[in-house]
Formats: sequence, structure tokens, C-alpha cells
Amino acid sequence: MEMYKAQAPAKRNIIASLGHGADLLASIKEVAEENHIKAAVFWAIGAVRKAAIGYYDQKERRYVRISIDEPLEIASCTGNIARFKDETLVHAHIVLADRDGKALGGHLYEGTIIYAAELYLTELGLKLEREYDETTGLNLLK
Ligand code: ZN
Repeated sequence: MEMYKAQAPAKRNIIASLGHGADLLASIKEVAEENHIKAAVFWAIGAVRKAAIGYYDQKERRYVRISIDEPLEIASCTGNIARFKDETLVHAHIVLADRDGKALGGHLYEGTIIYAAELYLTELGLKLEREYDETTGLNLLK
């Protein structure tokens, strides 16, 4: 697959405080869909009660799921919103920190439950779509 490159004007900026006890990934998707946003980049900070993250095994071409059942800081969460098969697809990665300040992170899965979180989202004025990529086994931007 060729490298994907695009230019787009930034449209709306949205700041949202996400719900205590809600799922982080689902909440980001909800903010996008409520505002009819089809392409965006976003950042979030806050804390979670527990987390579910993934590591992509490049050899086996599948995600390994990691569950962490303890309160953690969202040191950083970043990602984008695109379309995949005509659905809203939120792709996010997250860095979490424990009480010793130690970090761990990966691909954000559903199952990461918000304690408190602030989302900053910038809508982009372009069509952003994903497509299955044979080389990596991933749904990449096209
Ligand atoms: Zn990922």
C-alpha cells in the first residue's frame, strides 16, 4: 500500500467531559456521532477505573488483549476518527500510568472504564476512510 497523505482544514473544535463509569472508546464514538463528525483527530487526558488495551503481534497478525484491573491515569490518549465500511471507526492509543508513575500502553479497546476524562477533538474537513491492508493485516487509512 502506498503511503497515505492528505491535507484538510480544521473545522469545529469540541471539548467534552466524558461520563464517570462510561466506556472510553464508546464515549469518544458517541461524541463524534452526536456531532455528525466523520473525520477527526483527538486527544484525551484523565483517569480510568480499569483498562483494556491491545498489542498487535506482527508475526501472528492479530491483537493480543491486555486487561488491567486497577485505577490508572490517562497520561495520554490520542487517535483519529475515520470511516470503515460506512461506520464510524475510532482508532486510539493510550498511555496509562500507575501510582508509581510507571507507564504502559497500547491500542485502546472497549472495556476501558472512565473515572474522569476530558476529550479535545478537532473535526477535519475531508473524507477519511480505512481499508484492509494485505501487507500488515490492518485496516489502514487510504
Ligand atoms: Zn491501534
